[in-house]
Amino acid sequence: MEDYLVKALAHNGFVRAYAVQATNTVAEAQRRHDTWHTSSAALGRTLVGGLLLGATVKGDDKLTIRIQGDGPAKGIVVDANGKGEVKGYIQNPHLSLPLNEAGKIDVRGAVGTQGMFSVTKDLGLKEPFSGQTPIVSGEIAEDFTYYLAISEQIPSAVGLSVLVNTDDSIKTAGGFMIQIMPGADEETIAQIEEQLKKTPRISTLLDEGLTPEEILKGLLGTEELNILEKLTVQFKCDCSKEKFGEAIIALGADEIQAMIDEDHGAEAVCSFCNNKYEYSEDELTALKEEALGGN
Ligand SMILES: [Zn+2]
Repeated sequence: MEDYLVKALAHNGFVRAYAVQATNTVAEAQRRHDTWHTSSAALGRTLVGGLLLGATVKGDDKLTIRIQGDGPAKGIVVDANGKGEVKGYIQNPHLSLPLNEAGKIDVRGAVGTQGMFSVTKDLGLKEPFSGQTPIVSGEIAEDFTYYLAISEQIPSAVGLSVLVNTDDSIKTAGGFMIQIMPGADEETIAQIEEQLKKTPRISTLLDEGLTPEEILKGLLGTEELNILEKLTVQFKCDCSKEKFGEAIIALGADEIQAMIDEDHGAEAVCSFCNNKYEYSEDELTALKEEALGGN
C-alpha cells in the first residue's frame, strides 16, 4: 500500500486530526542508513512526526526537527515539507539496546531524557520561525506533544509508532496527531481522551490492516469525519551532485587544490539520504576555476 496521510475535521470542526501510514517511508530510511532496531524506531518516530507537522504547513513550506538528547543516539534531524516529503538521519544508526521493562524498543534509552527538541519552520517569510522545548520524555511522541503545547500553544495528542522486524527491517510505521481547537466542549475532549487510552499503538493497527481513515474514526470515536485532504507521503531527498559542487566551491580554491593534490578527487556523502557523489580531478579543477571567479 502506498504511504499516505489524511487531514480531517471532526466534532463540528473543533477537532483537527491527522493520521499517516508511513511504512514504506520509514523502511526507505532504514535501508538507506542501515539503522538497527533502536535507531530505526527513534529515527522512524521522528520521521512520522515530521510528516504530521509537515501536514500543517503549505506545500513549499518546510520545517526541520532536531532532537539533541544526552543518549547514545546523539542527535536526530528530520526535514519535512507540506508536500508530504520527508528525509532525516540519526547520528548513531547502529543502536540495538535491550528492550525496556514494558518489552518495547527502548527509544528513551537511545534519545536520552535531557536535551532539546527544536523545530525551525521556513514559511517563505523573511525570518524562519523557530521554537524549542526541553526533552521531557525521550520517547519522542510526548516530546512532540509538549513542544506543540508550549511552543505553539496547541493542545494535542500525538502517537508515533514503528514496528521493527527481527532482521531490523520495518514491519509498519505510522502516527496520528489530534488537535483541539479553542471552544471545544469538555464532553468531546473527555471522549477523545477515553478513546486514546483504549486504542492500541498505530503500528499494531496498521499491521492489522486498518487504514489511516479507520484509525482516525476509532481514535475520535465518531464515524463523522470530514476528510479535508489525502496526501501521498514519501522519503525524498533533494540533494544533487550540483548542490554538493556548490558547497565544494564555497570551500575556496586552496582547499580544492589540496583535494586534487592529496586525494586526487573527492567524495561527498549526503547525511540525509546517504547518497554518494564522486568528483574526479578534472571536475575538481573546474570547481576550482569557479571558486576563483570564473564562469
Ligand atoms: Zn540526500
